[in-house]
Amino acid sequence: MSECLFCKITSHQIPAKAVYEDDRMIAIEDINPQAPLHVLVIPKSHIATLNDLSAANDGLVGEMTRRAAAIARERGFSDSGFRTVFNTNREAGQTVYHIHLHLLAGRSLSWPPG
Ligand code: AMP
Ligand code: ZN
Repeated sequence: MSECLFCKITSHQIPAKAVYEDDRMIAIEDINPQAPLHVLVIPKSHIATLNDLSAANDGLVGEMTRRAAAIARERGFSDSGFRTVFNTNREAGQTVYHIHLHLLAGRSLSWPPG
């Protein structure tokens, strides 16, 4: 865990621009935003990918999802729309192996994704 970038961010060893934090998760501005709003909701517990979730994590993932919707609502994107994405493993483009929920909004997002 000691080399995990997002463990370092959730434990404040590396600075990030937090938009929300509680005892279970932090939400930060993405350093390379892909939309006018691009936030990452990151749990404080280290879970490498969605393949590593267990039933014990169901509440956590539910809270992360509701937090993303709450941030979208605060920024005024509830009605216009927003996208939430977990990338898992290589072909989905996962680059940080500590799960994080992307929240994207503020422009028209194409479907299917590239
Ligand atoms: P993924 O490719 O799904 O694993 O997403 C990783 C995301 O983390 C990318 O959108 C990166 O821009 C973002 N990222 C990487 N390093 C940092 C950092 N130090 N602070 C904030 N976001 C970061
Ligand atoms: Zn980690």
